Amino acid sequence: MTATPPAIKRVLLKLSGEALMGDDAFGINRETISRMADEIAEVVQQGVEVAIVIGGGNIFRGMAGGAAGMDRATADYMGMLATVMNALALADTLNRSGTIARVMSAINIDQVVEPYVRPKALQYLEEGKVVVFAAGTGNPFFTTDTAAALRGAEIGAEIVLKATKVDGVYTADPKKDPSATRYDKLTFDEAISKSLGIMDATAFALCRDQKLPIKVFSIFKPGALKRVAMGEDEGTLVYI
Ligand code: UDP
Repeated sequence: MTATPPAIKRVLLKLSGEALMGDDAFGINRETISRMADEIAEVVQQGVEVAIVIGGGNIFRGMAGGAAGMDRATADYMGMLATVMNALALADTLNRSGTIARVMSAINIDQVVEPYVRPKALQYLEEGKVVVFAAGTGNPFFTTDTAAALRGAEIGAEIVLKATKVDGVYTADPKKDPSATRYDKLTFDEAISKSLGIMDATAFALCRDQKLPIKVFSIFKPGALKRVAMGEDEGTLVYI
């Protein structure tokens, strides 16, 4: 704990599967996941309670499976199982580097991981443990963005931290348009009227309904997660 209390007490961090991939074409890159764990540990050390929803796109994406001719629901269950692998890898990395983490799954796989039970998750967070939510919402046809909004609302997170490859929300795609500028903050309604794709529509609507702000920031920028969690000027804030 530091002398200065953190600006935010409890966060829900949404990490995409891609965040674990590093420069690899798929899967989990050891160096990248270790760096990620270090960044998370720094935030925990500041006294912030951290819950994480992890994606699975680095291993399997249901949409692609569906498009390739698989039954979509089956493909989505495979996608959810991919998030369990990522969650186990992240929690293991955190635990080995001294940050206590627990995985809770929305799909029961009793021999592997404990099921999601809200009061238990709240207890872990209060004890300063990192909780990694696996298997998304547990339902096909959803995404882990929606799981992040859902779990964020359920655990009373003050904010959803949406980790992306870019350092915020831009007026246009900065890779295609060099004149694009970054928003420091914008309202949910502004984001909708400008058709800025921040999270998928279901996730976005849930955050908006629950008045749960979203902070979009770059997971690849060293120290950005800590600055965001400490309420410093970083990324783009989407608020009601
Ligand atoms: N998924 C699902 N329901 C959920 C969350 C995820 O069916 O509640 C499946 C879906 O197939 C998705 C895959 O799991 O494509 C991986 O999740 P996501 O694409 O959100 O991961 P990310 O892009 O964040 O790595």
